[in-house]
Amino acid sequence: MADKQYCLSVHYGQQQMRADQTGAHPVIVEFTRLLIRRLRVLDVPMYPHCVWRTKADQESAFVRGVTTVRYPDSAHNWGCATDIVHGLKHWGLTPKQWSIVGHIGFEIAHQRGFKLVWGGDDPGVNDAFDWDPAHWELADWRAHMIAR
Ligand SMILES: [Zn+2]
Repeated sequence: MADKQYCLSVHYGQQQMRADQTGAHPVIVEFTRLLIRRLRVLDVPMYPHCVWRTKADQESAFVRGVTTVRYPDSAHNWGCATDIVHGLKHWGLTPKQWSIVGHIGFEIAHQRGFKLVWGGDDPGVNDAFDWDPAHWELADWRAHMIAR
């Protein structure tokens, strides 16, 4: 998952700008920055694919089967979630590689006192949990449902 050469590329730099983080919850913005930076030190190129998802984007994702959640029931609809993926493999890391990302993410959250839920953290019960290891959201995001 490490790729020092790619970390130095223009494309990697452009990927950092992909997601619109304007007005997103400050914890999400800070967590996204810190997790990407911590992995970058290890030569692992990650970037934020999505932070905000508009109503139109959410409904489109639902229709395409990308998500089982409709607007406004995603933390992305309120700037309270971030999807952080690999610059070259995107969502295609192995479960073991994702578990490293998860471990580092929780380490950062613990150090900063951020209360986050990780989409890769399968509670292991028979529910409708969708394994989505790119996804991090505020545990209490429903308290932040403020129109953009
Ligand atoms: Zn997500």
